[in-house]
This record gives sequence, structure tokens and C-alpha cells, in this order.
Amino acid sequence: MNIIFLGPPGSGKGTQAKILTEKFGIPQISTGDMLREHVGKGTDLGLKAKEYMEKGQLVPDEIILDMVKERLSESDAQKGFILDGFPRTVAQAEALDKILDSVGKKIEYVLALIVPDEELIIRLTGRRTCKNCGMMYHIKFKPPKEEGKCDACGGELYQRPDDNEETVKNRLKVYHQQTAPLIEYYKNKRILFEVDGSKSIEEITQQLLQILEKK
Ligand code: AMP
Repeated sequence: MNIIFLGPPGSGKGTQAKILTEKFGIPQISTGDMLREHVGKGTDLGLKAKEYMEKGQLVPDEIILDMVKERLSESDAQKGFILDGFPRTVAQAEALDKILDSVGKKIEYVLALIVPDEELIIRLTGRRTCKNCGMMYHIKFKPPKEEGKCDACGGELYQRPDDNEETVKNRLKVYHQQTAPLIEYYKNKRILFEVDGSKSIEEITQQLLQILEKK
């Protein structure tokens, strides 16, 4: 099963992708996570990407496309994959089609999570992540038992540098200008499925499973 999660930052793409990954045994490929790993390790790619990420801008296509192409060729992605945060522009979507075409594959489902901007700002600015295990929290909606500490592993919680209000607003602007046109792109290919992303995590998962199991 080859799936794309489409949606603005904070719409729950990563959360749902992780759940589906477990359910179907196919990897979640998050370009944001891959870039953050490069930034953390201080690689050349990470150093280049950092300046864009800090401003909430998109990292140039050539960096992203090379990274994705390589990841998709790894053995665990051969029986399916869940793309999270990629593609983010029509140019990236067209390049992805070409990459998949060349190996006789195609995207079967584009799952679009719809959430209003006001809710996304509240979600993102309150988001905290465990440095150690990646577990996500929200200072208001899902606070840890002990402030700043992960319930699951005791790791330190941190706020992503691009989750401050100014950068969040810019990321949303970039989403509407550059990524939202993909909704039309995939609608035309008849593989787009829209889901109300303001429901609970469990309700959204149920809806997604219904879509994936129907075909
Ligand atoms: P995310 O974790 O998906 O919200 O991504 C965090 C940041 O990484 C974005 O604001 C961009 O700067 C960069 N990024 C992630 N995926 C892409 C992509 N497909 N194209 C360009 N930039 C990306």
C-alpha cells in the first residue's frame, strides 16, 4: 500500500502515520523527521536545510528529492510506504510520480486531513516532544504528569524551534500557497480522500481505516 498524508502542519499527519505504520507494517517516511535528524547530526545537508526550517520556509526541492528517492529505494519500503510531509509542492508531486513510474509503482491513496488554521496555531504552539522517545504532548490538551518530563521514558520534553507562533504562521502561509494546490492535483487523479482532522485521534483512525479497507 503506497500512501501520502496531506495536510497542514499540526493536522495530525505524523500521529496517524505512526498508527497506520504499526497496523500495516509499512514504514512512515517523514521528510521533516529526516531533515531534523540531519540538522541534529550537523551533516552538510542538515546545515543547508536548517536556515529554511528555522524560518518556516520549504527546503529546496533538489535536497528533498534526492533524500526521498534514496529512502524509497530501501528494502523496507518495497512493500509499501506512508509519506508524511512530502510532497509539499506540485513540482515535488510530479517528481514523485516520475520516481515511482520508473520502478512501476504508484500512489494509491492520498489522505488529506482538514483542520482550520486557528486550531492548528493552538495545537502547534503548545506541542512538546520527548527528546528521547519522540512521544508527543500538548501543554493544555495532553500535559505530561510531571512538567517537562516524558510519562513513557522520563526523557526531557522540548519545543520544536519552528513551533513558535511567528514561524507557525509562516508555515501555514507556505502550506496554503504551495501545498494546498496538491488537493486539486490528487483530486484530478481520483485518489484523494478528505477526512475531518479536528475529530479525536481514534475517530480519525477509524475513518482512515474505513477508506483503506473499502477498496
Ligand atoms: P514538518 O516536520 O513536516 O512540519 O517539516 C518541518 C520543516 O522541514 C518544514 O517547515 C520545511 O522547512 C522542511 N520540510 C519538510 N518536508 C519538506 C518538503 N517535502 N519540502 C520542503 N521542505 C520540507
